[in-house]
Amino acid sequence: MSSNTKKLTGKVAVVTGASKGIGASIARHLAAEGASVVVNYASSREGADRVVAEITGKGGRAVAVQGDVAQKSDVERLFAETKKTFGALDILVNNAGIYVGVPVGQITEEHFRRHFNLNVLGVILATQEALKYFGPEGGSIVNISSVVSTLSPAGMGVYNATKSAVDGLTRTFAKELGPRKIRVNSVSPGPVETEGTRAAGVIEQFQAYAALTPLGRIGQPDDIASAVVFFASADSVWITGESLCVCGGFHG
Ligand code: NAP
Repeated sequence: MSSNTKKLTGKVAVVTGASKGIGASIARHLAAEGASVVVNYASSREGADRVVAEITGKGGRAVAVQGDVAQKSDVERLFAETKKTFGALDILVNNAGIYVGVPVGQITEEHFRRHFNLNVLGVILATQEALKYFGPEGGSIVNISSVVSTLSPAGMGVYNATKSAVDGLTRTFAKELGPRKIRVNSVSPGPVETEGTRAAGVIEQFQAYAALTPLGRIGQPDDIASAVVFFASADSVWITGESLCVCGGFHG
């Protein structure tokens, strides 16, 4: 694709949790459209370096920055590094998240805090910090939610609650930030095969969902990334506060 047909030439993007899975694919897709990308990770330095090497190997611009997005000081450092490296900020993708399913009787305070600290507080902290760096042209924030917030499967109470919170934050922040030309939308993936879902041992269960899915298969990270590019780019310039399910039509 020649540079003049790319959708994100000259833009700078931060993708949280981009060392693997959906976040890694989002980073690659944004870079393929011309964005300079900050590949955030918590502990997988090797994975983040691999994503950066793939991007730069194709002539793109990317850098890996470690940071736990549930920690305010790490988030401050993440965005300061972004500014130092690429000089601006136009796109934030709040992707980092965890999902451990436990039934109501087994929910512990630790389980609750771990999920809410990353999946909800992490979104708030990254959004707050991004607001210090978006320029007068505004920007785009894309939150990665989940179909769990509408499907509400048994055994996923806390995870469902975190993603329902993300949907609420998306709508409210869209109203607050519209006057600054900052759009806030969310993408809600259905079951997607990633390092995380493979490690959780849920792929077999996901394959059973394929039978209930109009498009007849579970998702791959690239399926989600192309929707994120849409919300990050001017193709969605008059869309804010919306949530898009990218799930092959699987609504339970
Ligand atoms: P994944 O394969 O487990 O990857 C998670 C990513 O998040 C990794 O890059 C990981 O980095 C990073 N991360 C974890 N804790 C972090 C922290 N405290 N600070 C910064 N980064 C952190 O996950 P995934 O399956 O791609 O899911 C990504 C997002 O999509 C999540 O928000 C999830 O809820 C959502 N989602 C997934 C599915 C699905 O079926 N996969 C469906 C719906 C929604 P390290 O490796 O360095 O720890």
